Amino acid sequence: MSHSIHPEIERVLISEQELQTKIAELAARISKDYKGRTPVFVGVLRGCLFFIADLMKQLTIDASIDFICPSTYQGGTKSTGVVRLLLDLRDSIEGKDVIIVEDIVDSGLTMTYLLANLKTRKPRSIEVCTLLEKPSRRKAKVDVKYSCFDIPDEFVVGYGLDYEEIYRNLPYIGVLKPSRIKK
Ligand code: IMP
Repeated sequence: MSHSIHPEIERVLISEQELQTKIAELAARISKDYKGRTPVFVGVLRGCLFFIADLMKQLTIDASIDFICPSTYQGGTKSTGVVRLLLDLRDSIEGKDVIIVEDIVDSGLTMTYLLANLKTRKPRSIEVCTLLEKPSRRKAKVDVKYSCFDIPDEFVVGYGLDYEEIYRNLPYIGVLKPSRIKK
């Protein structure tokens, strides 16, 4: 199926095909690393939705899924660094192997908060898995074990990522036209 590019997208940064190829490779790597274990994939809502689904469908090990929803952006494009939980995990992660699944690690502030929070619950292990990273904007050092793509410092949407809650359903990662972003 072919999609025409959304009129508010400047250009496609990562195509649907490139996403799927990288995600399949990552699923194979995680399946190997966690062989004989049953990790819990903790999806960071809402941006993780397509990534966690496509990743988990390609696993060859057993795994469970849970979700957490932090709040940081309040609809803008820059992290405020203020993080609180809008939704917490349903189940205990004590003694479990946890893989946090995030759409993008930008400043790293959200992930630093989530790691600190989840570590207090005594998981057996905890690792970070992200679809995208913007290394040039990192403010907090985060140990990211699994990462699919490094991207430049541009605001991207699609494949789960939004601007003011729109564009999540685009099947690719695209750069939003700067004229669309409110000053
Ligand atoms: P951080 O705390 O700055 O690392 O921000 C992480 C969160 O900011 C991600 O989970 C995204 O929701 C959001 N974010 C950061 N950069 C972008 C972007 O380019 N597009 C959409 N959301 C973004």
